[in-house]
This record gives sequence, C-alpha cells and structure tokens, in this order.
Amino acid sequence: MINETMYGLGSKSSVIRELFAYGLERKKVVGEDKVYDFSLGNPSIPAPHEVKDALLKLLEEPAEVLHSYSPASGDPKAKQMLAESVNRRFETHFSGDNFYMTVGAAASLNISIHAITNPGDEFITFAPFFPEYTVWVENAGAKLLITPADTESFQIDFEAFEKLLSPKTKGIIINSPNNPSGVVYSEDTIIKLSKVLCKKEKEYGHTIYLIADEPYREIVYDGLNVPYIPKYYNDTFVCYSYSKSLSLPGERIGYIIVPDEMADSKRVMAAVNGAGRALGFVCAPVLFQKAVAMCADVPSDIEAYARNKDLLYNGLTRLGYDCVRPQGAFYLFVKSPEKSGDAGEFSERAKKHDVLVVPSDSFGCPGYVRISYCVAEKTILDSLPVFKAIMEELKA
Ligand code: PLP
Repeated sequence: MINETMYGLGSKSSVIRELFAYGLERKKVVGEDKVYDFSLGNPSIPAPHEVKDALLKLLEEPAEVLHSYSPASGDPKAKQMLAESVNRRFETHFSGDNFYMTVGAAASLNISIHAITNPGDEFITFAPFFPEYTVWVENAGAKLLITPADTESFQIDFEAFEKLLSPKTKGIIINSPNNPSGVVYSEDTIIKLSKVLCKKEKEYGHTIYLIADEPYREIVYDGLNVPYIPKYYNDTFVCYSYSKSLSLPGERIGYIIVPDEMADSKRVMAAVNGAGRALGFVCAPVLFQKAVAMCADVPSDIEAYARNKDLLYNGLTRLGYDCVRPQGAFYLFVKSPEKSGDAGEFSERAKKHDVLVVPSDSFGCPGYVRISYCVAEKTILDSLPVFKAIMEELKA
C-alpha cells in the first residue's frame, strides 16, 4: 500500500503545470511564436553577470573545499556575508547564526512550518495565495485557513482575518510582493497586522509566528518600499530565495532567518535545524551558498520586467480589461471579462486563441486570471492583438 495523499499529490499536476505542458505540445503544432504562454513564473531575465563571475572564481578553489558538505545549516562564512548584506540594506543586526540555508523558498517554508507545528495547529493566509501553502501546511499535520481577498485593494481584509484567529492559530503566512496579485502590502497593513497579532498573542498566551514568504522582495516597481517585516513584528520567520531575485530557480538556493527578537529564538532555531534534519533539507548546495553570498549586494535586474509590466498593463487596460495595478513580482491579475465572471471559462476561451493564462480559483480568489509577464517582450507585443480579438469576441 502506498500513501494515497502522496499519490494524489504526485499523480495530478497543478493547473499551471498542465497549461505549461499543453503550451509545449501546442508550440510543436502551430509554431513557437504562435503560442502566448503566460502560465509559469520562470524568470526570463538571465542571472546577473556577477553570478557567473563568482562561479568562475569559486571553480578555482580546490574540489575538496568546493564540493564538501557544509554544516547542515549552511556555510558559516556565507551565512555571515548574507547577514551583513541584509543588515546594510534593512538596518537590522543579524549574524550568520540567525540564518539557515535552504534549497529555495519552498524548503524555507516547509522547514519553518514543520519547526513550529503540533497536532491540531492552524495557519492562516490571505487570498490570493500561492497554492502550495495548502500542501505544505497539511503535510506538517496542520490546517490552512484562508482569509478571503479584499478585491478593492488586495491588501488585508482585517475583519475577515480576525474572525479566523483562535487559540489554535500557530502561524500566519504572508507573501509580498504577492504572487498572483502583484500587490505589495503597505506599511500601514503590516503595522495593523503586527498590532492584531501582538494583541492575540497576549490574549491566547502563546506565540503566533508570522512566516514572510519573500522570493519577490527585490522585484518592485517605481521605487516602492517593501516593509521589512521583522522590524515590525518580532516573531517573524523570513523565508527568502534567490529563484527570482537573481534568476536562479533551478539552483535551489535560499535561506530562513530566525531573528534573536523572536520569543525563545534559540529553541526555535534548534527546531528549524531539527525540521531541516527530519525533512532531509540539510547542507544546501555549497557552490551556490558561496556564490549568492558573493553576490549578496548585487541588485536585481528588473528593467525588462518593468517594461513588460507597463506594456501589458497599459495594453490590456486600453482594451477594456480590468487589471490590478502591479507593484511588484511579475504577475498581472486580471478580472475575468466573461459574462459569468468565471475564470476557468475565460482561461478556456483564451486557450482557443493560443493565449495561456491561469485561472485564479486555485489561488483562493475566483474570477481572475494570472498572467505571468516574465516572458520575452515580443510575446507581449504579439499577444495584444490576440487579446483584442478575444475582447471583441466577448462583446459580439
Ligand atoms: N512562494 C511563492 C509565492 C512563489 O511564487 C514561489 C515560486 O514560484 C515559491 C514560494 C517557491 O520558490 P522557490 O522556487 O524558491 O522554492
């Protein structure tokens, strides 16, 4: 007998993966440039040259240094370099000891959730949200509750959120800049969230952890400030990844920060080490631990994303599509223009025109589609007449 839950997870692909696979097949039939695939969040900008420079330099090191195990939580020097970079940028005072190196944000979240979960615990997140949260929270033996989206502002609907809080609440998962809405939670939102959680911690007499999922932190437009959450709320795990900021998704590299200010931080860090051990997430790829440490201050190259965002947002808005104004990440969240308002129906209609957009139902916010604009600029330019034809078809 196999584990049926795991069978279920492994035998069904996500809607996103299904669309992507369909796109690959369809391209073979009609041609690469005739399919407008906006399904995946795979960075289209190459990693900055500093990454290659760092790797070439590292390859000069003796193989036994380069390919050896690091300590389970990561290379001490790399962790210290990363801590110093974070301190320079966010006026924090971390040391390498506050860091646990991981294979990307997926591992950062899994480890953090496992480190704090006991049977019967609940986590809360805010729609729209990254669908894998449900898988990760349930795999740790907890339950994920969803705060419905505030579709006016895509900030937090605090009235709805407070109704979900209870003595069972162990953690809150927050993602900003947000996949899929592209919105950044404002400083006001973070201050309000912190106040609500501090009040509830006192009321329930236990810690409520805030898990900040931050792979898009550096991808923001118009100089917008993304509040650094540990500065507002002590009991925060920072779950970071270089998948998007340095365009290194396949290298699987990221980290967790457990700040000293967190309640019982030493015990929590020990539990993070324990969860990493239990899950087999130890000793993240050493070459890339060292490479990202050397590139810690390299800014993300977001020019191309910013251009794509403007082209798509302005282009679609002009055609009559109702789009959420993106502030960060590389996704445009667009209201389904179908009479029914159904996202699946619009995704299917677009698919018939070889435009692949992801219906929002699995993000916990029905009635929208997500358009990933981490694609070639030409794909966006060529797709606009097709989006126009789709709109005309809808109006006919
Ligand atoms: N969290 C969010 C919101 C994401 O969009 C992604 C990837 O797309 C992840 C986590 C996982 O990131 P990683 O590839 O670093 O594991």
